[in-house]
Amino acid sequence: MIRKLIGRLLGRKTRPAPLANAEPRSYQGTAEGVRREELPKSATRTCEALQQAGFKAFIVGGGVRDLLLGLKPKDFDVATDATPEEVRKIFRRSRIIGRRFQIVHVLFGRETIEVSTFRALQADAETDEHGRVLRDNVWGSQAEDATRRDFTINALYYDPVADLILDYHDGVRDLHRRTLRMIGDPATRYREDPIRMLRTARFAAKTGFTIEPATSAPIRELAPLIHNVPSARVFDEMLKLLQSGHALDSLHQLRSEGLHHGLLPLLDVILEQPDGARFVHTALANTDQRVAEGKSISPGFLFATLLWQQVRVRWDARVAAGENSIPALHSAIDSALDEQGEKLSIQKRIVGDMREIWVMQPRFEKRSPGAANRLVAHLRFRAAYDFMILRCDAGDAPAELGAWWTRFIDAGSDAREELLAQAPAGAVKRKRRRRGARKPSGKAQTEGADTQAAPNDAE
Ligand code: ATP
Ligand code: MG
Repeated sequence: MIRKLIGRLLGRKTRPAPLANAEPRSYQGTAEGVRREELPKSATRTCEALQQAGFKAFIVGGGVRDLLLGLKPKDFDVATDATPEEVRKIFRRSRIIGRRFQIVHVLFGRETIEVSTFRALQADAETDEHGRVLRDNVWGSQAEDATRRDFTINALYYDPVADLILDYHDGVRDLHRRTLRMIGDPATRYREDPIRMLRTARFAAKTGFTIEPATSAPIRELAPLIHNVPSARVFDEMLKLLQSGHALDSLHQLRSEGLHHGLLPLLDVILEQPDGARFVHTALANTDQRVAEGKSISPGFLFATLLWQQVRVRWDARVAAGENSIPALHSAIDSALDEQGEKLSIQKRIVGDMREIWVMQPRFEKRSPGAANRLVAHLRFRAAYDFMILRCDAGDAPAELGAWWTRFIDAGSDAREELLAQAPAGAVKRKRRRRGARKPSGKAQTEGADTQAAPNDAE
């Protein structure tokens, strides 16, 4: 009572403990569309071994949801009532991960199954002043584990040995109705963990389901709470969203939920900057296409495309002001990254990859034999080339340039010589001189320094 009162004074909402069905509904998996042949042996064997040792063990979360939707699950997680120590003893090739809340990675060849112990969300969990749960590391019953999950369709447990689905929150019904519904009181659940708002957008885009009105209603008001979440988590969730294969739809969903505005500067840029729209649109459509083809998308490439327009505008401005192209590009990159870093920090390793892709762009315009062959031999050539092709597709570089490089890569040595002879290698230089720009200083940095292409020459 006193806790409630203090909570109210501090503006916290108390959590009405979301009630699970006392007894879960159960369904036969195959009757609900689970194709058992789609299940990897690793997931089934993990459950089998745990059950033989006397524990409960279920596949849970996105794996079950996707199986029931007829989609190919990305990975399979297992939930159990065994403690991490007990799990580790059962599997020779396994290791405990994490300090705060331990989970176990069970290894099968190159596959890893993540095994977690049922967890509870305590009614009196420690929160910040907005209701964000700061600790979520108490083991619990299976029903409690179901209740702390986000959406009803993400809280289904599948026992592959018995072919049985256990459903504490009517997730199967919601799957049939094609509805995305938050478990418990949505506003409270968003306050506990504002990241769930981004997840709503992601899963709505992925499944094409209708968001239940009560689940979408609080988002507009609560959107600013994302600010309180550690930036690394926001970044991780954004990455999941962008790599989901439904990046474009997810971003539109974010926009329609009022989630993009002023809270992720990246999204403001993407969704509201008219010049940025075409490039980013092409890039994300291309990303979604690659995911559909089962190809991977590196975070560096992805964020290089998302922030390119920022770099581009600054680069153009500096060159127009008379700076040399290559140093201008480096300064433009620094400035765009600084601005982004103030808001959503991107890991150093990823930033390194982005920078490399960007600084290689001018090198595509230099088509002398030495420069072209050096570029092809570069370790990161492929990523930089893919990026350049994207620029061509989006009208940010001449189509001829992309076509030339595509032919050059596939060509044998004779054909390469012919292509080099035909290439307009000197055009770039002449154009810049006419504009009265200075020659690059000899100390121009890094690998991009062997070209003088001004950004506008690419258009
Ligand atoms: P994907 O196919 O994209 O991996 P997923 O549903 O498996 O989707 P994960 O982020 O891998 O999503 O999370 C696994 C499961 O953990 C979810 O299905 C959900 O039950 C639970 N979960 C993850 N994040 C949260 C969260 N922020 N709040 C509550 N439950 C969560
Ligand atoms: Mg998952």
